[in-house]
Amino acid sequence: MKRKIAVFLSALMLWSTVAGSVNVAAAEVQENSNTTVETQNDNEDINTISQDDSGVNYENENSDTQNQVGNVEENSTLTDNSNEEQPVINYLAVDQGYLQSPGEQQVVVSFGKGTENIEQPRLSFQKSDGTVTEFAFGKKDAELFLFSYDFSAEEKGVYSAKTFTYILNGVENSVDLEAIGVNAKFGVDEVYEGYEAGNSDTNAEQAVEASVVDVESGKLVSASTDIASTLSETESAISAESLEGRTVRSRNKVVVLDPGHGGSDGGAAANGLVEKNLTLKIAQYCKEELEKYSGVTVYMTRSTDVAVGLEERVQMAKNWGADVFVSIHMNSASPAATGAEVWYPNSSYNSEIHNNGQKLASDIENELVSLGLANRGVKIRNSESGSKYSDGSIADYYSVIRNSKLAGFPGIIVEHAFLTNSADAEKLKQESFIKKVGIADATGIAKYFNLSKEEDSGKFTASVIKKNDFARTFTVKINGKLSDGESYRVAVWSNKNGQDPNNLWTIVNKQSGNDVEINYNTTNYKNADGIYNIHIYKCDKNEKVTCVQTMTCNMYNSSANCKVQDTTGEEKNFKASAKITNVPDTLNRIQFAVWSDQNGQDDLNWYTGTKSGNVWSTNIAVKNYKRYGKYNVHAYAVLNDGTSVFLKAMSFNVTKPTAKLTVEKQNGSNGTAEVTISNIQSKSGINSVLVPVWSQGNQSDLVWYTAQKQSNGSYKITIDMGNHNYNEGTYRIACYIVDGNGIQTGIASTTCEMKLPNAYLNVKDTAGTEKEFQVTLGNASAYGNIRQVQFAVWSVQGGQDDLIW
Ligand SMILES: [Zn+2]
Repeated sequence: MKRKIAVFLSALMLWSTVAGSVNVAAAEVQENSNTTVETQNDNEDINTISQDDSGVNYENENSDTQNQVGNVEENSTLTDNSNEEQPVINYLAVDQGYLQSPGEQQVVVSFGKGTENIEQPRLSFQKSDGTVTEFAFGKKDAELFLFSYDFSAEEKGVYSAKTFTYILNGVENSVDLEAIGVNAKFGVDEVYEGYEAGNSDTNAEQAVEASVVDVESGKLVSASTDIASTLSETESAISAESLEGRTVRSRNKVVVLDPGHGGSDGGAAANGLVEKNLTLKIAQYCKEELEKYSGVTVYMTRSTDVAVGLEERVQMAKNWGADVFVSIHMNSASPAATGAEVWYPNSSYNSEIHNNGQKLASDIENELVSLGLANRGVKIRNSESGSKYSDGSIADYYSVIRNSKLAGFPGIIVEHAFLTNSADAEKLKQESFIKKVGIADATGIAKYFNLSKEEDSGKFTASVIKKNDFARTFTVKINGKLSDGESYRVAVWSNKNGQDPNNLWTIVNKQSGNDVEINYNTTNYKNADGIYNIHIYKCDKNEKVTCVQTMTCNMYNSSANCKVQDTTGEEKNFKASAKITNVPDTLNRIQFAVWSDQNGQDDLNWYTGTKSGNVWSTNIAVKNYKRYGKYNVHAYAVLNDGTSVFLKAMSFNVTKPTAKLTVEKQNGSNGTAEVTISNIQSKSGINSVLVPVWSQGNQSDLVWYTAQKQSNGSYKITIDMGNHNYNEGTYRIACYIVDGNGIQTGIASTTCEMKLPNAYLNVKDTAGTEKEFQVTLGNASAYGNIRQVQFAVWSVQGGQDDLIW
């Protein structure tokens, strides 16, 4: 006899990543009065605010996170696979809401995808008095597990679903059913609150969605494969009307575009074209075009000019739940080779991926050929080193194709055209052609998935944007129009802490625009790091709820310890560094902005930190700035999407040197003065000491003296009036120091009075006969080294007509 039972479905609160196709049957959205729900006003960001201020587990670096999903070690690429292996509770179904003893109760747990290696499944219910009853495991059929228990009259009471326990890959896991929102109850010889007697199969009063599982002589029929048709056949009391509109929409297709090469790896280069630049442009155009279709989410393995490892690319796709992986490349060979070709997975290991990959490859190749590119066909390439898949079949040659197959989706390599072919290259030099190529890829992918460009009402996209692991925030962006009475219900919870009913749901009502952004902060989730689950449901005006998308977001709870240090204590070189704890997957680089306080930011320089382990650092040389005073250093983390996250403001100082300037000796008799520069304080040392000296207001007699270092460490110059045209009067003396950074700065000035030296002219009648006179110039050496002295003599009478030298 085939017995059909209606069952209560408790929430599809999947507590882990859902990889692959999700067959969502129905969902219960509990509008618990305790739930913190904020309603979306027009364009206003909303946040579910935690009431929890217990402040626990802010950061526990030593905690054993081995079994935590999403604990990513630095530089790891293919590390954590626990994600995909963690199955989820789809629903739990109780045969009889009211059981009369003695009698057997049957409970079905729909768990995972049916492909996991689940051992020792156990299920327990708890009676209202605390007694725990363990059900006996009966049978497993795909993802359905049947449990039963014979109740006797002594076991009267109301029972609630408590724990589902299982062993997966040797590790015991336990799901607290109540914690994840499964609220399944039944009464034994007793009616529980909310249950209407006589309506044991279904209870319309319950604000729960119902579904049906066939139980035929203990043999389970997969309910999730075609739950709609099962429902339509059911004799349950669920009315036909209530089933209408329960269109189960699968989640968006996830397309991962992989722009080949990048960063230090330029790929092929010819005819003035570099592969890495073209692949990125094509991917961007492709993404832009593909996002015009509904039902698709597009990711890119890189969106900037950075190097990404081949395995890392596929790992990213896997984390995003890729349906296809499309690697974008340009070809190179001899100049004659031309046209487009696409590589797809061979038939080894998984023939479905081979078949799907071939179709995808052909769909894209056809579009490229229609652009006028030569048709080189779609191809497979087997390992040439004899590598095998685990089943012994020959492996695919290309890493991304092979790893995509192992990850469960088709990966293809599109070689669009040949950079080495002049005709192909000429086309690729036109931006308009590159755009056409991107659109052709998108069109091919859309044809593969049968996507259409529905407008407005049908269109729905959702994605995680603005993931900031330092601020511990991320934003869920939903694009999709709501009609009157419709709403989105967004459930978010961390794998670490599970579902907190107080901080689970955000309800988004109809608003003016199509876009909604909901901001999340992990501080509202007890600072949990790792995977956050995001399930988006659409609720129609009849309160029918459909899961429209599931996503995850891996949060790292990153922090930065930023410092700036004087490398040698000489104020010459400063090292700015940022040590990142829990390096986020989205970190592109660390940058430091450095400028001196003087003159605003006119000397601002950006430095990109050099990575060593988890420390990024850069050297700041003062000689490149040549300024004293305060220097500002701001550290930023630049994320892959181009966002700059401010990390810390720091500063350092470069001290201006000081010295004492003294006029030591002033010698009136020879026209000199000695000046000393002493008590010099200069952190970076002294390159030279310069002393400009002048007496005239217009500095026409300016002379720069270079001071000589003395044995006692002071510096000295000698001012010679002879260097200043023997000008008399006040001499101005300044002192400049050029320090170890090459900064020349005036540090002191003084004056001194300088008089002509005491030279004299003497005329003497030596014989007293007025026949001959002796003319003498005395103290001539005061004028320095004299080559010749000339005397001019003339009689006053008749002007200088008798002048003799
Ligand atoms: Zn390439």
